[in-house]
Amino acid sequence: MRVAVTGTPGTGKTTATNALATRVAEEDSAADSFSIGDSTLEVVHLNDVLEDEALYTEVDEDRQSKVADMDALGEWLEGTDDALIESHLAHHFDADRVAVLRCEPETLETRLTERGETAEKASENAESEALDVILGEAVDRHGLESVYEIDTTNRTPEAVADALEAVVIGEREPSAGDVDFMGYLA
Ligand code: ADP
Repeated sequence: MRVAVTGTPGTGKTTATNALATRVAEEDSAADSFSIGDSTLEVVHLNDVLEDEALYTEVDEDRQSKVADMDALGEWLEGTDDALIESHLAHHFDADRVAVLRCEPETLETRLTERGETAEKASENAESEALDVILGEAVDRHGLESVYEIDTTNRTPEAVADALEAVVIGEREPSAGDVDFMGYLA
């Protein structure tokens, strides 16, 4: 089973997948792979792969970001079939289930500035979150039956890890559009 964990930067993908891997790995002693039910899943932090393997086409100096080489990332992922793939790009690749982490935009902005992002980048991401950009892309590509929206706003990373675990083991129903952050844009 391949599960994509996507969402606007700052929604807590890295934190929640690490919390899940660390927790489940205690039995299994490998932090980058873990067993849930009958499956052993590898945790892939795709943005780290992009950096480590230099899978980008250019460096955007203005935005201080790298433009992902989506074809190269797709090739790199070939054969990675039992995995939790974490990245704001994860929904652009094949997956059996897609978890979309969400966060109320003002809270997201605070999380991002506290993480050291510029005010401009934080507000750009908050706006994108208010507009449901990634949720829309995930539903377009994978269909409503494969998308699991998880609101992280007032949830601890542990609680978000619980929700991800429920997605993996099939104890959560697909959902999309349950949150409404449009008030942020008013
Ligand atoms: P992403 O991987 O989606 O970009 P991170 O996991 O890096 O997001 O989290 C962004 C920031 O928000 C970090 O500083 C992290 O400590 C904080 N954070 C992550 N998850 C939560 C949460 N559930 N509640 C509060 N803060 C969180």
